[in-house]
Amino acid sequence: MANPTLLILPGDGIGPEVMEQVERIIGWFGDKRGHAFDVTTDLVGGAAYDAHGTPLTDETMAKAQEVDAVLLGAVGGPKYDDLDFSVKPERGLLRLRKEMDLYSNLRPAQCFDALADFSSLKKDVVAGLDIMIVRELTSGVYFGEPRGIQDDNEGGRIGVNTQRYTTSEIRRVARSAFELAKRRSNKVCSMEKANVMESGILWREEVSWVHENEYPDVELSHMYADNGAMQLVRAPKQFDVIVTDNLFGDILSDCAAMLTGSLGMLPSASLGAPMENGRPKALYEPVHGSAPDIAGQGKANPCACVLSFAMALRYSFDLGEEATRLENAVQSVLAAGTRTADLMQAGDAKPVSTKEMGDAILAELDASL
Ligand code: NAD
Repeated sequence: MANPTLLILPGDGIGPEVMEQVERIIGWFGDKRGHAFDVTTDLVGGAAYDAHGTPLTDETMAKAQEVDAVLLGAVGGPKYDDLDFSVKPERGLLRLRKEMDLYSNLRPAQCFDALADFSSLKKDVVAGLDIMIVRELTSGVYFGEPRGIQDDNEGGRIGVNTQRYTTSEIRRVARSAFELAKRRSNKVCSMEKANVMESGILWREEVSWVHENEYPDVELSHMYADNGAMQLVRAPKQFDVIVTDNLFGDILSDCAAMLTGSLGMLPSASLGAPMENGRPKALYEPVHGSAPDIAGQGKANPCACVLSFAMALRYSFDLGEEATRLENAVQSVLAAGTRTADLMQAGDAKPVSTKEMGDAILAELDASL
């Protein structure tokens, strides 16, 4: 059988540095575990703009549509701040998400024991935390029409955005959440504002429909999103999978992310409809940006990007055990006190470089055999 295909888009800033470590790890899975990938590398963001005058060429977009999964580093940087909006680095990423129709954004919030002190919450509230926020990514108030700013003809202005969801948009992201829950603790909490928004009422009804008709064995609860925000910081371990819309998901996933400490540790996946081979359209990327303040200095933490590849192993390639092997390797490296600069606390030994962190993860992978 042909090897699965991966398109790697390192991007800008620390993107290429962290991706270099991931490429070593991808190589390891081919050499040591018999899971080889056919990897193509290309440009996105500012790097693509510098080479081609656009943050994503049509050729790269076409490749992204063909491969089994895309792995992206980060885009953006001060060099591109003054570019026209239409060619800003972020447009490359948005085009990928839009044209691949990646409607389900998976943001795990997992607290590695060795990093429990990094959370702004008490250690016992977050130690062992492992939740997944599923955010609808392609609809809702960020896309709904009408939108814009107009004169009110009385000397003032009116800003308008429209929260709009259809049955099929809600049902497909709900299915994605229920499927995930089946691989985890079989529990979904759906969050909206059905108390004050009609779109919230529809959201609740459609999620319930999918539950009753397709996933009756998964436990489903509903919560108003404002209460959800409170519960996330009060007792986050009560949740397993949270499913919510684009706007609430944006806020709740960032809130949950900070439960775990450092941006350098946070992976994500954006999934779309299944392709002919059954694999979902998929883009995996760290949550962090291009970190221009540390780019090119060998200081970046590659773990978020490494853990994004672990998500690819699990969600695109059905290699859950190998994903766990990689996550455990990261866990062991941290437990041994190996830290990049972003994970240092007063009194810690010297930080390791991006490459040394990659070396340590590879050594742990070897030790796992
Ligand atoms: P950022 O995530 O790049 O950096 C925020 C802070 O976290 C910085 O101090 C940075 O040094 C640190 N940091 C981030 N990732 C790290 C890592 N892996 N290891 C160690 N430290 C890390 O966010 P920002 O500074 O607001 O944005 C910088 C650029 O990145 C901007 O151009 C922004 O538009 C872009 N951006 C891109 C994405 C993306 O590609 N998905 C996401 C967010 C921001």
